[in-house]
Amino acid sequence: MSQRPYIVGNWKMNGSRVMLAEARAIDRAAQRHPHAEVALAPPFPLLGALREAVSAIGVGGQDCHTAAKGAHTGDVSAAMLADIGADFVILGHSERRRDHGETDALVRAKAEAALAAGLGVIICVGETLEERDAGQAEAVVARQVEGSVPAGEAVAVAASRLALAYEPVWAIGTGRVAAVEDVVAMHAAVRARLTAIFGEEAAKVRILYGGSVNGENAAALLGAEGVGGALVGGASLTADAFLPIIAAAAAPED
Ligand code: PEP
Repeated sequence: MSQRPYIVGNWKMNGSRVMLAEARAIDRAAQRHPHAEVALAPPFPLLGALREAVSAIGVGGQDCHTAAKGAHTGDVSAAMLADIGADFVILGHSERRRDHGETDALVRAKAEAALAAGLGVIICVGETLEERDAGQAEAVVARQVEGSVPAGEAVAVAASRLALAYEPVWAIGTGRVAAVEDVVAMHAAVRARLTAIFGEEAAKVRILYGGSVNGENAAALLGAEGVGGALVGGASLTADAFLPIIAAAAAPED
């Protein structure tokens, strides 16, 4: 199944209203590159304003709670994200797994809540350097995929609204990019796990690479077998840095 490459910027805990100008510039560029599906995930306080500032790109949150509402101070529900116009949510980012002790089971529960609220979901998985050096990278990532993707009733709707992001922890924000052959091997392993879970529907799930993607390495990564897009942190904060990545996702017909 041929799908548009999915290029998602994760602003993490960065940004202010001044940066809406960057989002507008990214939105204009996305209109010139319809071969790619482009999205931004700003911090919660910017979500509504960014939604109103753009028209061609998707807008998403960086986390959500498992419950729809209630006594959970500081949290945001998937229904609230949908209500403010978000299209998707990033879940299980390694920074949340590290900073907030998020487990695969919690990520799965959040993903199921997000799907129930009508959102798309990007689930992040990836091994640490110690795990890679110990030869455990594929086993770790397989376990994360199996434990984090929706189960039960959610499976029926999950595949069409789900993306996986393979993000080796040691490549995030470090300037150190995974070797293309290692990315290809890991994406094939993730695809195999997804096929075991979703059957033929797994073909709908895009698998993104994340970890120090920039304008210089994007073409090689995005052109690699099995890579359906990129989850981009630092290089998504300015239009100047993000646009070459969008352009690198150019389809052959463009
Ligand atoms: C990320 O935030 O998911 C990420 C991959 O960050 P960076 O591109 O900065 O490595």
